[in-house]
Amino acid sequence: MLGKDILDALRVPPGKRIRLKDYDTGWAQTKELKSLGKEAAKEQAKVILQKNLEELATAQDLLYADDRYAVLMILQAMDAAGKDGTIKHVMSGVNPQGCQVFSFKKPSAIELNHTFLWRSMICLPERGRIGIFNRSYYEDVLVVKVHPELVNQKLPAGKRGKSFWQARYDDINALEQHLVNNGTVILKFFLHVSKDEQKRRFLERLDRPEKNWKFSTSDIAERAFWESYMEAYEDALSATSTEWAPWYVVPADNKWVTHSVVADLLTSTIRSLDLSYPEVTDAQRRALADARTKLIDEDE
Ligand code: AMP
Ligand code: MG
Repeated sequence: MLGKDILDALRVPPGKRIRLKDYDTGWAQTKELKSLGKEAAKEQAKVILQKNLEELATAQDLLYADDRYAVLMILQAMDAAGKDGTIKHVMSGVNPQGCQVFSFKKPSAIELNHTFLWRSMICLPERGRIGIFNRSYYEDVLVVKVHPELVNQKLPAGKRGKSFWQARYDDINALEQHLVNNGTVILKFFLHVSKDEQKRRFLERLDRPEKNWKFSTSDIAERAFWESYMEAYEDALSATSTEWAPWYVVPADNKWVTHSVVADLLTSTIRSLDLSYPEVTDAQRRALADARTKLIDEDE
């Protein structure tokens, strides 16, 4: 399992204004890791990932049987930071019946007829399930803040300044508090990739025919707004990292780091819940014994 010092360093402290440049996108997160060296750190991360994936399968089974908690995992990031790959790797060992993935794109006309939280509300995980949001209602304080012309034109007229965005952060915090109060555990990951690594991954998408489909020309257009995005992320992460739903800034320049951190936090969070398999009552035990007798008697 990853050290508490690493996880603490990645958690955005509630109520604190953070700067993303204070968060490393690479692999050498602690002095210990640095002295270990990259190859050894990578080997260690792979072992941690493997162990977590095995434990995640068991933890998910118990979450499903217990049927009281839901887990909502939110992934936000710049393009090519590795959201899709993280979902693919981290969820590779879990029972598909116990998890649900939803991706949020540019809102449809129907979605724009509702408030910005609505489309996510109808996709929330039910008890016993792990729900993954590949992007989320946070887009409405990220891409929409970077491009204010994307603010829903159907909203009643009003100021679109600081208080407008603050009201959205407040709504998000209140919603997440409501979910947590009612048994949904929330994990929020910002996959923190560097601008250089994004360039490298874009070039790979352009140079490798089988990866071309992953590239969209708008990716380059959005890259030009990098600084505005970083500011929007800093504002959002600072305003919405709470005791009940903290943000984690996950280093994303190396996929092995991203996958091991996300798997570790997901697994340890589920394991920390007071889960148990439903108990069989005496009456149920008698009914099971009866059923058994009936099945055996069929042969005679
Ligand atoms: P991808 O995840 O690469 O398929 O891209 C989805 C695109 O939809 C991204 O560029 C997002 O920024 C965009 N998107 C998601 N939610 C919203 C939203 N509420 N308003 C505008 N654009 C959005
Ligand atoms: Mg994309």
